[in-house]
Amino acid sequence: MADQELPFWKRKTLTQMNRDEWESLCDGCAKCCLHKFEDPDTGKFAFTSVACHLLDTETCRCSNYQERTFHVPDCVELLPTNLPHLAWMPKTCAYLLIHEGKDLPDWHPLVSGDPDSVRKAGISAYGRIISEQAVSNIEDHICDWPADTIKKAAARVKRGNR
Ligand code: SF4
Ligand code: SF4
Repeated sequence: MADQELPFWKRKTLTQMNRDEWESLCDGCAKCCLHKFEDPDTGKFAFTSVACHLLDTETCRCSNYQERTFHVPDCVELLPTNLPHLAWMPKTCAYLLIHEGKDLPDWHPLVSGDPDSVRKAGISAYGRIISEQAVSNIEDHICDWPADTIKKAAARVKRGNR
């Protein structure tokens, strides 16, 4: 297949992508919008099922994407330059996969053509999260499933599931 016939994520680096291509890489899993705690001694992260107050827990999309960093100052705007340094990014994240030279998995909407394939594959946070507005102590909601789905999906990617 000639290079030009390949989908953009196979022929462009993250820095070469235009805005629409970049935005379309997000599969909407919402796992990067969950609160997490870092152990200062080990640098390891504990995930929680508590979502940022701007996350729409029904659609798993940010409810004010354009102004997100104004309303949530610690929301990290993903860039090709900061991506390699974000140790908490889910291993299933398409940006991370492309950065690491991997292909998109079969459940990614750009591959499946189905916006709901992330949820159907059990990769999305949908149905397992609660907004931070509804909890009094985020630490009470530390859980394993975000890391488990990350490990499960990483194994699928490693085996080559396309
Ligand atoms: S982890 Fe990556 S793919 Fe999932 S919502 Fe965040 S940016 Fe999008
Ligand atoms: S502001 Fe939006 S993109 Fe940022 S963490 Fe919150 S829901 Fe996610």
